[in-house]
Amino acid sequence: MSALPKAHSEMTEAEWQARCDLAALYRICDHLGWTDILATHMSVRVPGEPDHFLINHYEEMFHEITASSLIKMDMQGNVIGKSGRFNKAGFTIHSGIYKARSDANCVMHTHTRAGAGASMLRSGLRPISQDVMLVWDELAYHEYGMPATQEECDALGVSCQRGSCVVLLNHGLLAFSHTVHGTLQNLYMLERACELELISRTLGEPPVMIEPNIVERMGKSLKKLRADHAWGLHEWNALVRLVESKGSDFRI
Ligand SMILES: [Zn+2]
Repeated sequence: MSALPKAHSEMTEAEWQARCDLAALYRICDHLGWTDILATHMSVRVPGEPDHFLINHYEEMFHEITASSLIKMDMQGNVIGKSGRFNKAGFTIHSGIYKARSDANCVMHTHTRAGAGASMLRSGLRPISQDVMLVWDELAYHEYGMPATQEECDALGVSCQRGSCVVLLNHGLLAFSHTVHGTLQNLYMLERACELELISRTLGEPPVMIEPNIVERMGKSLKKLRADHAWGLHEWNALVRLVESKGSDFRI
């Protein structure tokens, strides 16, 4: 927890904590190499304000983002309070998910090489690795649409009903959850699953498929784990310690 600075007395403690978590998330993504210069974005819904979310100021790289540099938006595309530029395609993606899924409190979107690479596969991911098993029950696909348009916002709202670990075809990856750490856990496993899918396609022999009854049993077990607050929490705490150990001063 980080105490609310006097300079930000206009906001709630809960918003400040959400800002610190989101800034930490950007620093973690930077550490993992999930960056694309100024493209791609992560957001959190403001606690107690379901129609507002926090997202990056569209000029900063992930390693520069701090709690107070994040901007606050509503679902109509207005910036609330301190002004700042935002990525229009990013607004479309994040507002589309928040409007369609009231259970989503954090959304992450990346253009990693493995994610964007796997997003080009017509046949998608296969049940061939333990990593893909950890997202299989929530795996969804979203067809490429015209970026930054209302039709794309609405289409994403439909696709995200099918699952919280989404391959955006011809584009990249997206994940969401009721917690920040759960969202990171979903995206981390989806990223790894994509990486292994691509590796398997270079090996020159068909992969072993995981037995359907195991896939089904794991899916049921994962659904329970994913609904729990602890999903991804230990990994999150470890990664926050890691970015702190690099001297990252993101709680400002
Ligand atoms: Zn994108």
